Amino acid sequence: MSSTLTTNGAIIEVEDLHKSYGALKAVDGVSFTVQRGEVFGMLGPNGAGKTTTVEILEGIRTADSGRAIVNGIDVRRDPRGVKSIIGVQLQSSTFFDELQLSELLEVFASLYHRSVDAKALLHKVELDDKINAYFSKLSGGQKQRFSIAAALVNEPVVLFLDEPTTGLDPQARRHLWEMVKQFKANGTTVVLTTHYMEEAEVLCDRVAVMDSGHIVALDRPDALVDKLLAKGFHKERVERQATLEDVFLDLTGKALRED
Ligand code: ATP
Repeated sequence: MSSTLTTNGAIIEVEDLHKSYGALKAVDGVSFTVQRGEVFGMLGPNGAGKTTTVEILEGIRTADSGRAIVNGIDVRRDPRGVKSIIGVQLQSSTFFDELQLSELLEVFASLYHRSVDAKALLHKVELDDKINAYFSKLSGGQKQRFSIAAALVNEPVVLFLDEPTTGLDPQARRHLWEMVKQFKANGTTVVLTTHYMEEAEVLCDRVAVMDSGHIVALDRPDALVDKLLAKGFHKERVERQATLEDVFLDLTGKALRED
């Protein structure tokens, strides 16, 4: 198949994607590539089109036009093929509260016609001692980590994380950041949506900033900051060397508080 898209190291290639809901152009000509092993951030205000874009890549929604390739698979032609090689973090409300974590992982694995080593998987997200716990009894941070374990059952080549730290306390948020860094170190490509700019700065190799269905900027976080400064931007108030979050962590420590 001929392609005008680069295949040089790219695991995701998106070209001129469009998706409308009635008169609303939710995604309006979006193109980008994600490199293999990269942590790629999707940023933008509510309604910018991030979820629509990401769900097209996941084979959950169908684009009106344009092309999306994930690990060599054309998403429009083979959405099932794409679903079999990606990991998607489901929202915790969709889990069955009355099942133990090991049972839940078996349910997810069966969807992929796979067997699962629940112990090893829970170890990856540091829930070793919760293998027999019921989902409903987990803390917020533990639920988020479990949802990532569930997304790993099919050993995905691309992991999609949708606002993975929303609602977590600062300790749990940092803990999850370390986990994402570990996935990256192991070669997994991660596509992450977030409303936390600090999270994007810490984790993402590059970010796409979306607004009104368009990508308005795409670069490394530090390069985007440099460009803003080069335009003459300066803050009225010089930031202090510490934030209230630093005070919070100094007072309460960095250890997780959920067990
Ligand atoms: P958020 O940060 O709030 O999650 P987002 O950037 O992910 O926002 P999308 O969820 O992709 O944005 O939505 C983009 C636009 O498309 C919004 O105006 C939204 O209301 C609209 N939209 C999304 N899904 C549908 C749908 N199924 N039917 C109609 N409109 C939709």
